[in-house]
Amino acid sequence: MDAQPSAADIQDFLGQAINLAVQNVADGGGPFGALVVTADGKRHFGVNRVTRDNDPTAHAEVVAIRTAAAESANFDLSGAVLYASCEPCPLCLAAALWARIGRVYFAADRHGAAAAGFDDALFYEYFDGTRPELMPVSQTDVPTSNVPFDAWRDNPDRTEY
Ligand SMILES: [Zn+2]
Repeated sequence: MDAQPSAADIQDFLGQAINLAVQNVADGGGPFGALVVTADGKRHFGVNRVTRDNDPTAHAEVVAIRTAAAESANFDLSGAVLYASCEPCPLCLAAALWARIGRVYFAADRHGAAAAGFDDALFYEYFDGTRPELMPVSQTDVPTSNVPFDAWRDNPDRTEY
């Protein structure tokens, strides 16, 4: 686990995420901003672009992670810290896990977001297993289902991640 940022740094970076969120509303986007501070101390920014890009996955945190990885030329953001203006949803938490981000800080919580009309409480219930009917997920037996994994193991040039 990486060293914890100072309380002053956390306040500063969360303030920057909030400023991004406010500016994004003025620019016609959703009220969410985020930044990733990579292990080298560089800041990488993201704002919610769902409606402008017609991309339901373009949450501020995901955009900041994509930006950080692209600018770092590295899909592994180990040692990075994610700062978000609002509590990251399950999508963003999963993206941060895949990016190997070490810590996450957020300002407003899910209840503040819900009061503004952004309610992902159902998604948390889905992952808790209490609302499976929201989106049934089913495995189906297919004879070739292991072929991609065999190809991966047999490829000596693969990039592990
Ligand atoms: Zn999200």
